[in-house]
Amino acid sequence: MLIRCGVYMDSKFLKSQEKLLLKQKEIVESDLVQVANKKKTGEKYEPKFIDLGQGNDDAAQEVTTYEEYIILEKSLSRVLSNVNRALAKIKKGRYGSCETCKKEINRERLKAVPIASQCLSCANKPRRGFRWTFWKR
Ligand SMILES: [Zn+2]
Repeated sequence: MLIRCGVYMDSKFLKSQEKLLLKQKEIVESDLVQVANKKKTGEKYEPKFIDLGQGNDDAAQEVTTYEEYIILEKSLSRVLSNVNRALAKIKKGRYGSCETCKKEINRERLKAVPIASQCLSCANKPRRGFRWTFWKR
């Protein structure tokens, strides 16, 4: 039994969430290796550069592909780090509590979005940045 931050998560639910997360990790990692090379240290990736040949058209194509890879690598890496963070939270017994208000995140939300780190009401709240832009006016 895991009780922390006032959030109770039964082990059966955590196990199934962990399974979902590991599956997601597997999918993201298999996508990542197609567009990026894993660096020797840590969980970092860098976009692949595909050498298609010598011609000018090929060079343009290479750049386009590389730019796509950069974007893909960025978004996939972000998902992967969220997945890893959620998995770490399961291990630490902190999974399922909102990182902002510490309340329990709705189970249905967690089932739909296993990497969710905020409850729905916090996720929908405008971020600090909005206030900053307001002050700057
Ligand atoms: Zn919250």
